[in-house]
Amino acid sequence: MKRRFTRQRQGVYDVLIHRHDHPTAEEIFSEVRIQQPGISLGTVYRNLDLLTREGVIKTLSSPGNPRRYDGKVYDHPHARCLSCGALIDIPDDRSISVGAFSFPGFTVTGLSIEVRGYCSRCRSCNEGDPKESDQHDI
Ligand SMILES: [Zn+2]
Ligand SMILES: [Zn+2]
Repeated sequence: MKRRFTRQRQGVYDVLIHRHDHPTAEEIFSEVRIQQPGISLGTVYRNLDLLTREGVIKTLSSPGNPRRYDGKVYDHPHARCLSCGALIDIPDDRSISVGAFSFPGFTVTGLSIEVRGYCSRCRSCNEGDPKESDQHDI
């Protein structure tokens, strides 16, 4: 598929589709700046908004966390680390189907799943500290 983006938008998009860690606008900005030193954070934000509206990327917002961006627009499950806030794609995309969640009187068009826990980096720092390991909030 060939898309015609401005150079700046292409730069933002390229960073995003090559990363799988759902960077924030600031993280995208610091990477795009290597290729395009003249770009501003405001421009990155504007292009992220445009790309989201065009349906080419996804904006992931979660209360209390910075907005993150995802180059994958299809429904896929995420795992969020409660310690460092990392948002990780769950490997081997489980088949999740919106059909399973439809009910009379409502048309389901999308589904987002986010599981919570601790990433391996945070786990190894917190080894032996069980105070948050028994959280159940579902
Ligand atoms: Zn973590
Ligand atoms: Zn994702």
